[in-house]
Amino acid sequence: MTSKWQEQESRYYMHLVNRQPVVIQRGAGVRVWDVEGKEYLDCVAGWAVNNLGHSHPAVTKAIQEQAGTLLQTSNQFYSIPQLQLAEALVENSCMDKVFFSNSGAEANEGAVKLARKYGNMYRGGAFEVITALNSFHGRTTAMIAATGQPAYQDKWKPLSPGFVNVPYNDLDAVKQATNERTCAVMMEPLQGEGGVNIPSDAYLQGLREWCDTNNMVLIFDEVQTGMGRLGTLWGYQSFGVEPDVMTLAKGLGNGMPVGAFLCKEKFNVLEPGDHGSTFGGNPLATAAANAAVRFMVEEDVPAHALKVGQYLQQKLEGLKAKYEGVIVDVRGRGLLLALQFRDTISATLVSACNTKGLLLNPVRPDAIRFMPPLIITEAEVDEAIAKLESGLTEVLAE
Ligand SMILES: *Cc1c(COP(=O)(O)O)cnc(C)c1O
Repeated sequence: MTSKWQEQESRYYMHLVNRQPVVIQRGAGVRVWDVEGKEYLDCVAGWAVNNLGHSHPAVTKAIQEQAGTLLQTSNQFYSIPQLQLAEALVENSCMDKVFFSNSGAEANEGAVKLARKYGNMYRGGAFEVITALNSFHGRTTAMIAATGQPAYQDKWKPLSPGFVNVPYNDLDAVKQATNERTCAVMMEPLQGEGGVNIPSDAYLQGLREWCDTNNMVLIFDEVQTGMGRLGTLWGYQSFGVEPDVMTLAKGLGNGMPVGAFLCKEKFNVLEPGDHGSTFGGNPLATAAANAAVRFMVEEDVPAHALKVGQYLQQKLEGLKAKYEGVIVDVRGRGLLLALQFRDTISATLVSACNTKGLLLNPVRPDAIRFMPPLIITEAEVDEAIAKLESGLTEVLAE
């Protein structure tokens, strides 16, 4: 069965990613099943997307009801699920206004447009956005210029102008890159794709003060850190620093494609005609996200993520002590964690773990990332750790 779909892929689908040989067919909670009927504990979660787990009943119900009611309106008209989701996000964050997109990259595009308009109106036509090396902001032609990783940029030059990439967690680098053209600083509060890199509290606080002093927009790309991932509903809460603009996607719809950019009232500068999207804020996507956000808030899922995240981190520290010299670092917050190896064993380890029934992400050649559904229990963490250790001993014996 698996090979049939692999052949189908090579015949019809662009080969843009080397996939693991797992054809996932079904998911429930923290588990997924492949076409062979094999069960896996899912510590990838659709790339930090299924934060409430697969097939979450509240989200499924909202999708089913909305699918039988109304799938799409144009933004010429009012849409109830869109406005309900807007209320849920604004009432549960430091933000005042929201606009919906279909993906994280598009949410960031919207945030950059907003920042350029602000720069145009209030900072003498400033348009440049400072972002970090090792960041990830999406794959559009502008967002690869924002994404400070040569692997995402090199083949697509010339890059879209107006972005400056500086070292992460280095406040002086931001200060030195700032000039009269700078309108914004856009950062992930914790770098996900870049290898789960945590900044110092002083860094984010320093960015806050620098942007205030210079009348620049501080944008947090919370596409991965938002929706409870770090053990707080929004990543900025975990660091105690409020941005002016925040972008979301990934976990927002718990699997329905939906993104958003939000701003404080002072930065609410976009007007009719400035931005738009055919599908952005679509009733089906926003009905799903509305159910997901409200469930997450009502059940305080972030608090659970914080607690179980600490448990997982402690278990990973235990492995590090046991496999001293092989595992050299454990890092992350909440349920966005990474295990750093001395050697480039991620790919073989992830394959070995697949065989054992555990899905993981090889975020770097020498690091793996854990981003399970936030509803994972301590017992399931124990199960994941046992599978991981079994995979690791196999790889080390080779
Ligand atoms: C995944 C990700 C994006 C891009 O989101 P897409 O929905 O794939 O466009 C942007 N920023 C961060 C921090 C991400 O993790």
